[in-house]
Amino acid sequence: MSSRVSKADYYEILGVSPEASDQELKSAYRKLALKHHPDRNPGIHAAEEKFKEASEAYQVLSDPDKRAAYDRYGHAGLNGHGSGFGGGPFAGGVDIGDIFGDLFGEMFNVGGGSPRASRQKRGDDLRFDLGLDFEAAVFGSETEVKIRRLETCAACHGRGSASGRGPSTCGQCQGRGQVRYQQGFFSVARACGACGGTGSVIGDPCQTCRGQTRVNSEFKLNVKVPAGVENGTRIRYAGEGDAGRSGGPRGDLFIVLSVRPHDLFERKGNDLHCVIPISFPQAALGDEFEIPGIDGPVTLKVPEGTQSGRELRVRGRGVPYLNDKGRGDLIVKVLVQIPRKLSRAQRELVNKLAESITVDNKPTSPSLLEKMKDLFN
Ligand SMILES: [Zn+2]
Ligand SMILES: [Zn+2]
Repeated sequence: MSSRVSKADYYEILGVSPEASDQELKSAYRKLALKHHPDRNPGIHAAEEKFKEASEAYQVLSDPDKRAAYDRYGHAGLNGHGSGFGGGPFAGGVDIGDIFGDLFGEMFNVGGGSPRASRQKRGDDLRFDLGLDFEAAVFGSETEVKIRRLETCAACHGRGSASGRGPSTCGQCQGRGQVRYQQGFFSVARACGACGGTGSVIGDPCQTCRGQTRVNSEFKLNVKVPAGVENGTRIRYAGEGDAGRSGGPRGDLFIVLSVRPHDLFERKGNDLHCVIPISFPQAALGDEFEIPGIDGPVTLKVPEGTQSGRELRVRGRGVPYLNDKGRGDLIVKVLVQIPRKLSRAQRELVNKLAESITVDNKPTSPSLLEKMKDLFN
């Protein structure tokens, strides 16, 4: 655990209010970091301390998750994270390079210029929404889908040039991928607009892909949906997304399942739920009859003396477990229906019954009733 006695408030360190926007945080940190940067204050310990403090504060507050934790629980909320500056200059698991790359890279042009962007780039991940019937999700299915994606251009083999020579050095930036200009004190470097920072341009673009190295295409995929998937389940097909630019690696494809609801059954985890009306005699005397299950008829046994609202469990007639053996249960809630209208003969019978069946009409608290229900079930 940290041996620090007390720590200053991150917002105070940066001199901003707790409501500060990301932009305000960034510019406050930028100002402090420029002022106290060790390179500009060689050998001055206090400056180095201030720089570390500000860096730590910014590192935490610029991360939405860490900021939320900090706002809620203060330093304790960070649980040791975000205090990585404690051990020494830039020690710990904090990637100060990120902050520098972002903030200082273009201001100081640290280290003589960042490397130019690669022409090759990984293809995008793709998402495809697949609608499924309830049963198809429960028992699995196989569907062929057509997916549009970018393929490496066959005419130029992803080189982008008609002659096959490939890209040549960008004249604008002489292949550096960056152009510099003066801003106040600083020499500022920006990505070259002519080549998009790659340092190279295609002089004789391929006519098929117009130098883009990729073309739109459609492919068929046989999607195997395993039994037991749910609404929102994602199936990942690694390397089936867009082709990469200039022959870069492919992205991934995600099939996102959207399961249509069922008319009778509702799914909760791996159990299926439905509601079935029964008559007073069935509830009082007990009965056994067939009801439709998700995969064929199910025999339901109503025990003698079943209360309205009781849930009867039919084991193993629910949803199969995904990637596992066994199935959940079918849970049938029985509701005892009281006839709204009686014939004269029925009325006489119920009257007879009333002479021998009585209920103690005493109030009970609802929570006690719940407990009694549990006992009945
Ligand atoms: Zn250029
Ligand atoms: Zn091409």
